[in-house]
Amino acid sequence: MAMFKSIFSLLCLFLEFQGTLTLSGTFWHITDQHWDPTYELGGKPEAVCASSGQRPAANAGPFGDYACDSPWHLINSSVYYMKQIMPDPDFIFWTGDDTPHVPDQDLGEEKVLNIVRNLTHIIKKVFPNTKVYSALGNHDYQPKSQFPASSSHIYKQIAEMWSDWLEPSSQVTFQKGGYYTERLLNRTGYRIMVLNTNLYYDQNKLTNNMIDPAGQFHWAEQVLTEASRNKEKVYIIGHVPPGFFEKKRSKPWFRPEFNQRYVDMVQKHHPVIQGQFFGHHHTDSFRMFYDSDDNPISTMFLSPGVTPWKTTLPGVKDGANNPGIRSIEYDTQTLLVQDLVTYYLNLTRSNLGRGGWEKEYRLTESFRLPDASPRSMHRVLQRMADDRCTLQKYYDFNSVSYDLSVCDAACRVDHVCAARAVEFDAYRDCVDEEGAGVVNGASTTLLVSMAISLFWWSW
Ligand SMILES: [Zn+2]
Ligand SMILES: [Zn+2]
Repeated sequence: MAMFKSIFSLLCLFLEFQGTLTLSGTFWHITDQHWDPTYELGGKPEAVCASSGQRPAANAGPFGDYACDSPWHLINSSVYYMKQIMPDPDFIFWTGDDTPHVPDQDLGEEKVLNIVRNLTHIIKKVFPNTKVYSALGNHDYQPKSQFPASSSHIYKQIAEMWSDWLEPSSQVTFQKGGYYTERLLNRTGYRIMVLNTNLYYDQNKLTNNMIDPAGQFHWAEQVLTEASRNKEKVYIIGHVPPGFFEKKRSKPWFRPEFNQRYVDMVQKHHPVIQGQFFGHHHTDSFRMFYDSDDNPISTMFLSPGVTPWKTTLPGVKDGANNPGIRSIEYDTQTLLVQDLVTYYLNLTRSNLGRGGWEKEYRLTESFRLPDASPRSMHRVLQRMADDRCTLQKYYDFNSVSYDLSVCDAACRVDHVCAARAVEFDAYRDCVDEEGAGVVNGASTTLLVSMAISLFWWSW
């Protein structure tokens, strides 16, 4: 009897294990490599790389410097580390920005295409049998961010470069406007939608005053309506995200009407959208979408960049980051995002030969969550707003463990409101409410601690 019981327990364990194996899948999300081919050690600190724009690269080493975009060695090490950690992912999301932060006149169309080609080549070489879904970043064009709303030489050239990854129907829409959709891994019931949100970027002069550049919104609405009819689950990827930058108060990227249309689209079609994966910020953050009753309906995960480049955006204090990449665990039946594991390279330590790529954190462990569903991410956000420890933990991860300073009251408002409110009006309301709360909260805390001190001193 005892033996029968132990065989039965073993069988249960086996079935449980099998169940986990069949239900759970993993993929990589990489973004913002920004390769700077001029990076070279040995000269003056100001001359290490073109992307520093004369800022001294004071701690330049083989893996790079915080003032510079990525040297090839850094990009190479990140791709081989991916291979080492998870050699056979279900697929890879790659959300763009391949070229360095240098003036347009220092690049030109051929250089831009060459950089995209080199990065495509290394990903293909290291992951020859992996399907890659790839979106264009605002730096993957010449002049940068000036994406046209109709076919162009660059769209065609990149469609050609990515021809192994694009189905024939994807080739057609990509050449027309840099976007495409396919069944995810060619499986019935699952879909990927790759957007060219550079068309909505407020720096793009070519799409100013347009209602629906390249017909992408109309197309996306159709794709999502059809997905709902066919009972499909959809992942959306893109580069420039809607909403606000969490490191600079009131800094959006989309033009207002495009931002609203994106939010409307997610609100309307959220039952089929199981995850959104974007880049551009170089930081590690997320954005929540809510329905009209304030229920969390969708999450956009913003993955950190590979480049450590300190942003020159005015108003951002010390905006560098450690290089980061991310693996995502998901339920292959529902596409529910189960977990995120972020890997990083401490640039300072690695340049001194005292480290390399390593795990930074696992979302469910660090924030004590059952999964990465919109409900769970909403819980993280609530805790960030209410609990200093959670806010600080999130803030350390935000710069990929580069900026470990205290996230103060103003910082709390910046991060909480950017994550909570993608809509412009909702963001303004959030800043008003949370800002007012913080001032009152801070003074109340101060008064209480002063009262306690007086109490102690009087004894
Ligand atoms: Zn970037
Ligand atoms: Zn970008």
